[in-house]
Amino acid sequence: MNALTYQCCFCGEGIGDSSEKSNKVDPCSIILIANWTKHESVQAEQQFFAHVNCFKDTLWKNVPVEVGELALELEQK
Ligand SMILES: [Zn+2]
Repeated sequence: MNALTYQCCFCGEGIGDSSEKSNKVDPCSIILIANWTKHESVQAEQQFFAHVNCFKDTLWKNVPVEVGELALELEQK
């Protein structure tokens, strides 16, 4: 059992194997980069954690999140 726990930035719930929202690719990390189009010297980053399904459900409907592909990629490692 992993002693680290993560809180989903969308639903506020913990991300663990026992949560019904959890997917086998969780926990997922999202990295926000400020000033993306500018030079790295004026960029800043912040990391978030989330259930992949909460992330997917938050995005605009036409933005694909390939959860099945992520899971398949993990199985192949
Ligand atoms: Zn969540």
